[in-house]
Amino acid sequence: MIIDFHVHTAYYETMTPAYEDLIRRAWGDRTEWMIQTYSSPEGFLDLMDEAGIDYAVILAELAPITTGIADNAYVAEFCSKSPRLIPFASINPYTSTRPAEELERLVRDQGFRGLKLYPTYQHYHPNDAHIYPLYAKAQELGIPVSLHIGSSIFAGARIKYGDPINMDDVAVDFPELVLLMCHSGRPFWYEKAFALARLHDNLYMEVAGLPPQRLLEYFPGLERLAHKVIYGSDWPGIPTIKENIEAIKRLDMDEDAKGKILGENAARLLNISK
Ligand SMILES: [Zn+2]
Repeated sequence: MIIDFHVHTAYYETMTPAYEDLIRRAWGDRTEWMIQTYSSPEGFLDLMDEAGIDYAVILAELAPITTGIADNAYVAEFCSKSPRLIPFASINPYTSTRPAEELERLVRDQGFRGLKLYPTYQHYHPNDAHIYPLYAKAQELGIPVSLHIGSSIFAGARIKYGDPINMDDVAVDFPELVLLMCHSGRPFWYEKAFALARLHDNLYMEVAGLPPQRLLEYFPGLERLAHKVIYGSDWPGIPTIKENIEAIKRLDMDEDAKGKILGENAARLLNISK
């Protein structure tokens, strides 16, 4: 079972110049082709088949300052085409007037299975009390919350909001809420992210965007913590998911541990049984 827990849409309603640059650097003269091909769920399902992925978490993104907008309606529609596409909503807690109610509607009426928050892109600390009603609602609904935890190269991002230590409060205050640290504290907080994931049962590391061949260098104890680590690609920021997965399979680690990271843990969190 292979689950990619971190996929952005090819189509964005609007992209910042910084985000567009990154996509063009990754895809070169295939950029237009990529956007057109993979803006349809059918195209993306073909890519999943080629890469050997069973399920993919598709992330909405409401980050006009930093990357751009791929809204919840688009992601809901995209994912409605196949049960292999798992929609995660995005809510900006500082522009939504009733974030908790909005989350409940998105989950109950539109089939969202999780929430993605972008503290570094939307400028708040994850342990800000203002966000707490949103966590309380996610905990009540029994859905996981993924947060961007770590640096970002995009102009407009504020890296201080990506410090993993802020997740300590959230993990303690919402013990039944599953929390994922996307990017696991990249690049100067790896140790902190690892220690916190080890400490809190409900706090997971997610490794999207990290070069897989270097994971054991960043996290020497990775194998020991494999039950708390989740694979994600961060596609289309990286052009081939398949190579990414192959690199993880080549890591000098127990096969059991790789199986957990590549899909078993995610399947448990998303209530997927094959
Ligand atoms: Zn991402």
